[in-house]
Amino acid sequence: MTEATGIVGEFLALKEETDADVLTMQCGDFYEFFDEDAELVADELDLKVSQKSSHGSSYPMAGVPVDDLTPYVSALVERGYRVAVADQHETADGHAREITRVVTPGTHVETGDDAAQYLATVVRDSEGRGASGNTGSSDGDTYGLAFADVTTGQFQVTQLDDADPGAVLSELYTFSPAEILPGPDLRGDDEFLDRLRERTDATLTLHATEAFAPGRARHRVREQFGAETLDSVGVADDDAAIAAAGAALAYVEETGVGTLAAVTRLQAYGARETVDLDATTQRNLELTETMQGDSSGSLFETIDHTVTAAGGRLLRRWLQRPRRDRGELRRRQSSVAALTRAAMARETIRETLGDAYDLERLAARATSGSADARDLRAVQETLALLPRIADAVAETERLADSPLADALAGADREAAATLAAELDDALVEDPPGTVTQGGLFRRGYDAALDDLIEEHEAALEWLETLPEREKDRTGITHLSVDRNKTDGYYIQVGKSETDQVPDDYEEIKTLKNSKRYTIPELDEKERDVLRLEERRHDMEYERFQDVRERVADRATLLQDVGRALAEIDALGSLATHAVANDWTRPELTEGRELSIEAGRHPVVEQTTEFVPNDLYMDEDRQFLVVTGPNMSGKSTYMRQAALLTLLAQAGSFVPARSATVGVVDGIYTRVGALDELAQGRSTFMVEMQELSNILHSATEESLVILDEVGRGTATFDGISIAWAATEYLHNEVRAKTLFATHYHELTTLADHLDRVENVHVAVAGDPEDGEDDVTFLRTVRDGPTDRSYGIHVADMAGVPEPVVDRSQAVLDRLREEKAIEARGSSGSGTKQAVFDLSSGSFAAAEGAMAGEQQASADGGATAPTDAVTDRFGEDAEAVLAALSELDVNETPPVELMAKVQSWQDDLEE
Ligand code: ADP
Ligand code: MG
Repeated sequence: MTEATGIVGEFLALKEETDADVLTMQCGDFYEFFDEDAELVADELDLKVSQKSSHGSSYPMAGVPVDDLTPYVSALVERGYRVAVADQHETADGHAREITRVVTPGTHVETGDDAAQYLATVVRDSEGRGASGNTGSSDGDTYGLAFADVTTGQFQVTQLDDADPGAVLSELYTFSPAEILPGPDLRGDDEFLDRLRERTDATLTLHATEAFAPGRARHRVREQFGAETLDSVGVADDDAAIAAAGAALAYVEETGVGTLAAVTRLQAYGARETVDLDATTQRNLELTETMQGDSSGSLFETIDHTVTAAGGRLLRRWLQRPRRDRGELRRRQSSVAALTRAAMARETIRETLGDAYDLERLAARATSGSADARDLRAVQETLALLPRIADAVAETERLADSPLADALAGADREAAATLAAELDDALVEDPPGTVTQGGLFRRGYDAALDDLIEEHEAALEWLETLPEREKDRTGITHLSVDRNKTDGYYIQVGKSETDQVPDDYEEIKTLKNSKRYTIPELDEKERDVLRLEERRHDMEYERFQDVRERVADRATLLQDVGRALAEIDALGSLATHAVANDWTRPELTEGRELSIEAGRHPVVEQTTEFVPNDLYMDEDRQFLVVTGPNMSGKSTYMRQAALLTLLAQAGSFVPARSATVGVVDGIYTRVGALDELAQGRSTFMVEMQELSNILHSATEESLVILDEVGRGTATFDGISIAWAATEYLHNEVRAKTLFATHYHELTTLADHLDRVENVHVAVAGDPEDGEDDVTFLRTVRDGPTDRSYGIHVADMAGVPEPVVDRSQAVLDRLREEKAIEARGSSGSGTKQAVFDLSSGSFAAAEGAMAGEQQASADGGATAPTDAVTDRFGEDAEAVLAALSELDVNETPPVELMAKVQSWQDDLEE
């Protein structure tokens, strides 16, 4: 076997061992990718591919230098790949290679992104036994979910008892995980997996089933968090939650990236604490990115004025997981209110926070052993900000009396000060980026280290002053002392003066213009320096590891302080935005009210002269049908209602003169398929699935936004579905609902259903009265629109005059008769069919030649045959029969044309 065969063979064998998508294998100073993996990285990362021959065949090969691997792995992982890394180590007979870690989207620590990075595990326990003691009266299952962010050590678990897959998927979406591990029971549920794939960007990993086994999972959770924790966070009986948690821990450990230690605290939460927001809703409301996928123009980007990464993460989480609990929300509101009125202190705090580093992430780096001295210095500097911020709060009465002071209470100031002082005493102010080359510690930190450093520096000093001494001794002017790898320390003398060197100079090398010498004393000192240097590096590294470990031991403290700073940052951001945009504190109530006076759309108001709108809903005015011409502002008005509710339940102020928001348990939005089709996303099937999801999931405490739902299908199907959905939402679900529609017909629902009311977006000018200009007033008023303006829009868009005129005639006719004839092209003024609005079908027109005749409402069923035979004679029936039997999909085009031709011939006879 040649060496080449060996390497490729070895690579392919290792690849067999792992379920990772890509493998890279260390070969000396390079990490290499072979075969398909080489092609993949070439495509994804623009690496150059060469060929490696082996066994007479040739394999693509791509490589990166050992020190450059990390960014390449990161880039692959960020694209959703799971990357296995095989390292090389020396053995007695050469070297061996083995896979040491698998870097995956959910366990990747070196992320360049400030956003949270969750690994999610989801388990279904079809037995349906949960902590709440499900009696089996319902057909839902029990699900356990765990979310681990290894970059910050956040670890959250929950159990959903008696839940359907939709609820589980919503819960997953709100975390937008980078990677999801479905448990054994879900592995075979293709529908569930498909929905996951469709609706998240997460990498789906089918991980070893054993990790989910209840006993093993429980054991692992206990090991990680301590035996008592399960009880103290109240999940001791939640088997599904524990299985999910255990599997997540196992996976983090098995990937081997050393991040498990950062996961220090188990947090259990109830899904009932947060507002249900499914993926569609998050996207429709453009919470963190726009429909086009840009982050700019999203709600988050618009209101985000945080100055720290952790503050940004927290604010984002508040938007993605709004709360139902008014107590917590009032606490945030009061803090924001206090901050809005304390401009000076607010600015001081924000400025101070501007110097803070990401403590949660630093804690994770310390525990995983990857933190360097600069990281620990960053910890110190950030901890040192805490008293300054605490003082700013304490010295401002408004802030001191607000719950903002409580946010700081979670951080142990004394412990933080102690650790900060300890780090400050230890580390130099501007340490190097490597931890094995010394230069990390201050003098006075450690006596033994001080002695060593002193000795080392004295030896260095001796070397530094050697040239001066030798110049004095020998009278040589061109003399220097230097060091390189091959020669060690040497004395270099210019060629012109080499005859003056004393006897104790021993020549070691001749160069073009100089010679190199050594002397016994220099040899001796060199040995000293090298020995001292090595000892110093070792000792500093050892001491550094101690320090790092002590920081790691206090990971919880760092996380607490980090969280407090993040919270203050996020609250400060909300206050800053509220002040700059004249937002107001909404009143939160238990009731079903949603009343907004002079409300605006939080994003649109940034770029547009926004016309404020009012909205009033309560239990007697539960369902609003929103009508108005195209482009008048229906969608904006409804999104505004949803966004104001969401902002209120994130603890934020809202863009309105005043607002009262009855807290909701879920916000559901659905945009009609046509609008979404334009985005290239949706089909009518998806639209209906999502409508179905809303009708199942929403409760009377929810807010439902339906925007042109039913538009993705034929008019009559659409109206019927919209009509029935309205009745169901009104009668059964009783959710607060806003329904925008261009189906004028739906406005009559208000006459029949108690709590349905009409509102419309007002327009000035009436094109049907011959006024050319229609002005969109953007003002929402009670009552239905009295007409639609589609034809006017068509006119403005430059649709040819005859078509516009004809549309108007058709429309007039429709209004009068509730029926419309379709015009054929053969023969002038002929009508061949009538579209009957009351039956929703076409019927051939009676007396087809008679011009302006129309079908009677009930004539459709019997009239056509007669009319047809009258005109075309008996052959027509045979033609119609043949036509109705023809299978268009099965008939080749040429044959179809021939058939049509022959029918035409028959009819013309
Ligand atoms: P519709 O859903 O009725 O077709 P949209 O809500 O999509 O209309 O709004 C159409 C345009 O009008 C958008 O560009 C939007 O930004 C703007 N708009 C909507 N409401 C307002 C308002 N109250 N003030 C100013 N501009 C608005
Ligand atoms: Mg719209």
